[in-house]
Amino acid sequence: MSATTATELEEDLAYDSSDEDIAPVTALIKAGKEDISSTRQTAAFRDFMLKPELIKAITDCGFEHPSEVQNECIPQAILGTDIVCQAKSGMGKTAVFILAVLQQIEAVEGQVKCIVLCHARELAFQIFRDFERLKKFMPDVKMGVFFGGIPISQNVTTLKNEKPNIVIGTPGRILQLIKDKALDLGHVTHFVLDECDKMIENLDMRGDIQQIFKKTPVDKQVMMFSATMSEQTRKVCKKFMHHPLEIYIGEGHKLVLHGLKQYYVELVEKDKNKKLVDLLDNLEFNQVVVFVKSPKRAAELNKLLCELSFPSLTVHGRLPQQERIENYKNFKDYKSRILVTTNLFGRGIDMERVNIVINYDMPSNADTYLHRVGRAGRFGTKGLAISFVNSTNEGNVLNEIISRFELPIPKLPDEIDANTYMQS
Ligand code: AMP
Repeated sequence: MSATTATELEEDLAYDSSDEDIAPVTALIKAGKEDISSTRQTAAFRDFMLKPELIKAITDCGFEHPSEVQNECIPQAILGTDIVCQAKSGMGKTAVFILAVLQQIEAVEGQVKCIVLCHARELAFQIFRDFERLKKFMPDVKMGVFFGGIPISQNVTTLKNEKPNIVIGTPGRILQLIKDKALDLGHVTHFVLDECDKMIENLDMRGDIQQIFKKTPVDKQVMMFSATMSEQTRKVCKKFMHHPLEIYIGEGHKLVLHGLKQYYVELVEKDKNKKLVDLLDNLEFNQVVVFVKSPKRAAELNKLLCELSFPSLTVHGRLPQQERIENYKNFKDYKSRILVTTNLFGRGIDMERVNIVINYDMPSNADTYLHRVGRAGRFGTKGLAISFVNSTNEGNVLNEIISRFELPIPKLPDEIDANTYMQS
C-alpha cells in the first residue's frame, strides 16, 4: 500500500480536477420519502430496453420489478452517464452497475473493459458472483476477481489464462498487479467503486484508487455507490467524474431500514455470553450475524459457540485467506446459520437469509451501526437487530443513532412476536 499523505493526495486530486474539466452536476434526485422500500410496481426491467440476454438473466434471478434505485439509475447508467449514488443497503445497487456495464460492454479478447473496486475481499467475491448470475447468457464476456491474501503469482496466471474483460478487486492487489505489469487498464471504459466512502475516506486506499484511476483512459464511465456518504466524500467522488447524475434515495439522516425491528439490551460485559446464548436459543431465525469489535473476540466467541454446539462460523481479517472465503461461502450457501464477524462484514455483504443481526459489541458510530444492521431485512424483507450496550460510551452511540436516524430503538422486551421479524 502506498503511504500517501493527505496533502499529496489533495495535490493528486487537484491534478484530476484541472485535467478533467469538472462541470456542474446535471441532475440531482432526492427521493426524500421515509419509506423507501417500496418499488414502483408498474415499472418493468423490460422498459429499460436491456439486451435480451440480460432480461433472461434477470428473470432467472427472480427479479420481478426494478427497485427505486434501479429505476432512478439504470436508464442513465446504460447510456454511459457517470453516477454517484447513495441509497440504503440491500436495495439493489449492485445490479445497477452490473447491468449498466453488461449492457454496454464490448468484449474484445485480451482487453480489460471494466474495473470494479471495493474495500473487502468478501465483497469483491460477492460482486463477482452477482456478475456471474447476470452475465449467464453472455459467455463471451470473461471476468476475474483479484484480492490480497493469496499469492500474486496465482493472479498473474489467471490474468494470462482467463484474459478477463471485467476485473473486480481490492485496491491494494489491483495496484500491485498494475505495477507488476500483469494488468493493463489502458482499454477500460467503465470504472466502478462500490462502498466508495469506505475507500475514499481511508487515505491509503484513496491513494491506491487514485493511482489505479490514472492508469485508465480519460474517456470512460465512472460509477460510485454507497449507503452512507458525507458531504466531503461526495465532493471527492465527484472529482473523478464528468457531469455525474447524483442520486440520493432518502435523506442521509433518515436512512431507515423498513421492516427491521431494532432493540437494545443494557448489560455488563460478563453477562453478554449468557444473553447471546439465550437469544440464540429462543429467537426464531434463518441466519444470524453476530458483530464483535475485534478479530480476536470473533475467534474466541466463535469457538465458544461451537463448543456449546451452536452451528457457528467466523469471518475476520486475521483468518488465512482461503479459510476466510471458504467460511464466507459456507455461510452464504446456508451450510451454517450463525456467523461471528467484525466490521469487515458490515458493509455491502448480501446474505439473503440473514434475518437477525446482534451487535455483541456496539459499533463505534452511527454509520457503522447502519451498515451492520443493514445485513438483516434486505430488499424490504423483515428482520431484527439487537444491540448490547454495556457502558456510558456505548449508550452515547445508541443515542446518536436514535437521534440521527430518527429511529425508535426500545429496550428489548422479554418476548418478541416472531411474526414481527420473520417472513410469513
Ligand atoms: P444489493 O443492495 O445490491 O446488495 O442487493 C440486495 C439483494 O437484492 C441481492 O440479493 C440482490 O440479488 C437482490 N436484488 C437486486 N435487485 C433486485 C430486484 N429488482 N428484485 C428483487 N431482488 C433484487
